[in-house]
Amino acid sequence: MIIELRSDTFTQPTPGMLEAMFRARVGDDVFGEDPTVNELEARTADLFGMEAALFCPSGTMTNQIAIKAHTQPGDEVICEELSHVYQYEGGGIAFNSGCSVQLLRGHRGRITAEQVAAAVNNREDVHKANSSLVVLENTSNRGGGACYEFAEMERIAATAKQHGLGFHLDGARLWNALVAKGESPRQYGELFDSISVCFSKGMGTPVGSVLLGNRNFIRKARRIRKVLGGGMRQAGYLAAAAIYALDNHIGRLAEDHANAAATAEALARQPWVHEVVPAETNILIFKPAANKPVAEVVQALGDKGVRCLPFGPDGIRMVFHLGVTAEQTRQLISIIDTL
Ligand SMILES: *Cc1c(COP(=O)(O)O)cnc(C)c1O
Repeated sequence: MIIELRSDTFTQPTPGMLEAMFRARVGDDVFGEDPTVNELEARTADLFGMEAALFCPSGTMTNQIAIKAHTQPGDEVICEELSHVYQYEGGGIAFNSGCSVQLLRGHRGRITAEQVAAAVNNREDVHKANSSLVVLENTSNRGGGACYEFAEMERIAATAKQHGLGFHLDGARLWNALVAKGESPRQYGELFDSISVCFSKGMGTPVGSVLLGNRNFIRKARRIRKVLGGGMRQAGYLAAAAIYALDNHIGRLAEDHANAAATAEALARQPWVHEVVPAETNILIFKPAANKPVAEVVQALGDKGVRCLPFGPDGIRMVFHLGVTAEQTRQLISIIDTL
């Protein structure tokens, strides 16, 4: 038996999802003629109360398209130092958009309106890059699935607006935040200029992310997607999985959060665990004690069929998803108790 906790990208499509994919009606999406892609885009836009949406192969692509559409070469992007857009997208901000980055040190991946205000460059100063975009990430991946307080995002939105900056959300795991905080997608649609949501993480589809924005923004984004080679043809088979996830996989994320919390509790009572970062959603980060090296713990868990990842210099990450049942979580806890 394998308990796969390395990432929520390891999910396998469920039988119901596969059936929905088999049944999909498809067409050429580059011609705008895939009815299932069109349905996914319309439904997601409607869910968030935004004008338009664009289905893309990955969350890296939706983020990078958004950054490209919001900026000009030589501009500066403001984001937290652990952000996925900066840390894990292959230097894409420089590669695709020719922009510099102003990194802010936040708390568990979250920044404040004061930090953003202080990071905006003076437009009249010719020495400085033109600040043009703020990117937030919710939930924060490197922050261990931490969620923003909605009021803080509202304050950051006001700051961005005051300075004429674009406001983009990397919402790869926004679904988890919505469920954990009892927030509605429309609240986010009102706040951000653009939002990227992923379906291939906790939502459990094989492939795909959706970028949301106003009609003009998405028209521009569609052109950039084509330039990047992200225009797909009969992509409705993939969109059908995402529609299935919208119908069936949002509410169940609460189970993943409960499994993460139960495991966090079990870890906290182990003498060989130094610190457990509170699990707000489906990501759990903990640090073994100094006399218990990370590699040793990962190996010992691996020997018992539990797959997890070293994270940062001295941490271990476990990510809960629909491929990890409550029963498997009980097994995991008994393995931890006997380690
Ligand atoms: C996974 C992830 C993405 C997108 O990743 P892809 O693998 O390109 O789909 C973006 N942001 C965050 C925070 C993520 O965790």
